Amino acid sequence: CGVFGVYAPGQDVAKLTYFGLYALQHRGQESAGIATFEGEDLHLYKNMGLVSQVFNESILQQLKGDLAVGHTRYSTTGSSRIVNAQPAVSETRLGPVAVAHNGNLVNTAELREEMSRRKFDFVSTTDTELIALAIASEINGGKDWLEASITAFQMCEGAYSLAIGTPVGLMGVRDPHGVRPLVIGTLGTNPQRYVLASETCGLDIIGAEYLRDVEPGELVWITEQGISSFHWSQKPARKLCIFEMIYFSRPDSVVEGESLYSYRMRIGRVLATESSVDADMVIGVPDSGIPAAIGFSQQSGIPYAEGLIKNRYVGRTFIQPTQVMRESGIKMKLNTLKDVLEGKRVIMVDDSIVRGTTSRKIVKALRDAGATEVHMRISSPPVTHPCFYGIDTDNQDQLIAATKSVAEIQEQIGVDSLAYLSWEGMLNATKQDPSTFCSACFTGDYPIDVPETVKRSKLM
Ligand code: 5GP
Ligand code: SF4
Ligand code: MG
Repeated sequence: CGVFGVYAPGQDVAKLTYFGLYALQHRGQESAGIATFEGEDLHLYKNMGLVSQVFNESILQQLKGDLAVGHTRYSTTGSSRIVNAQPAVSETRLGPVAVAHNGNLVNTAELREEMSRRKFDFVSTTDTELIALAIASEINGGKDWLEASITAFQMCEGAYSLAIGTPVGLMGVRDPHGVRPLVIGTLGTNPQRYVLASETCGLDIIGAEYLRDVEPGELVWITEQGISSFHWSQKPARKLCIFEMIYFSRPDSVVEGESLYSYRMRIGRVLATESSVDADMVIGVPDSGIPAAIGFSQQSGIPYAEGLIKNRYVGRTFIQPTQVMRESGIKMKLNTLKDVLEGKRVIMVDDSIVRGTTSRKIVKALRDAGATEVHMRISSPPVTHPCFYGIDTDNQDQLIAATKSVAEIQEQIGVDSLAYLSWEGMLNATKQDPSTFCSACFTGDYPIDVPETVKRSKLM
């Protein structure tokens, strides 16, 4: 999911949020929502669809206020329905609270039980509503916004990057492992206004300046008085999702000073060092495979070419919630360039293989277009384990590499050769400390404990 928040009295906060979400659209395409606060009054609009489909000028005009939070959703818990769209809102003794969440809690069942014990009713099936209710419950018990929120976060286990709106201020939070990204930006200097966004591309679009990442286990509180920071977790230890680096975040976003475009080119070079092969050209699978393909070409000296053209106006196939929709997605999305591919030995670079269904179709399309050999190179290791922290890689039995060897996958996808990037190559290519990443979907080594019942629901 994509989250966004802005504190900017006197500015059109709904419009700023709209454009922030527009830049974060790749993080979720099922629903979008914006909540604004005009003093104690909350204005909320959310609906199914893309940001540009959900909002128009007249809706945005009604969303008045000094601060706003927004969300683009891709479901990991709770189905794809309007009641599950975010921000999630709850009423409290001190006025409404609106929560926009990226990630996935692992103790949802426990929290749900606790909240029903506290006599709350649920309108949705999401973990985000539980966070909103936990805050409301603590507020109603007599705490202020900060104390209540910190108590609520201490009840949450799993991955959560949050933008939270209240009548008095905007809150930005990351879980103690900082699994999902969240950055702070500034907008103007006099007065200084603050912005929160899942990625730096959400700051760029509105002309905000990147200040810093929210730290794992940190809460930033932005009010009339400015910005203050609270480190509320005992043992913060960053485990940023390595898939944010490889695939999920936009290539023009920057993580801890590292450009994701450069990182993706670099892993392409490492991949070429590890497993080059004789061929006439290197192509990338648009869009996410392209930087690594360019890096592969630079390192191997094999010319880079475009063999596949993507329709810019259809969303990512993977993010659609059902397998049926996913399978019909690919033809709409990519087309081959026959004149480029005809009679050529092709190295096709992509960022990942998850189920193998997309890859297989693309390979068939390349052969239909006249490619004589197709060698597939993947700029990440085999995905063998499901994610419990907010990326919908599905159950383990859906993951092709969970049960098949590289040789078997090669055969199933129908390529002449197949090689993946090594796990060490992937981690060592970042300019950050390799131990500060989660890479559990490649290893099964989950940095945040997942309860057995939850594990059993996704593991074979
Ligand atoms: P598959 O061949 O496994 O069906 O599809 C792999 C393709 O799905 C890759 O091109 C990758 O870019 C794309 N993809 C879309 N969404 C995701 C995601 O959330 N995670 C990963 N790893 N790949 C995704
Ligand atoms: Fe990211 Fe994989 Fe860890 Fe999930 S399991 S947070 S997708 S690295
Ligand atoms: Mg791709």
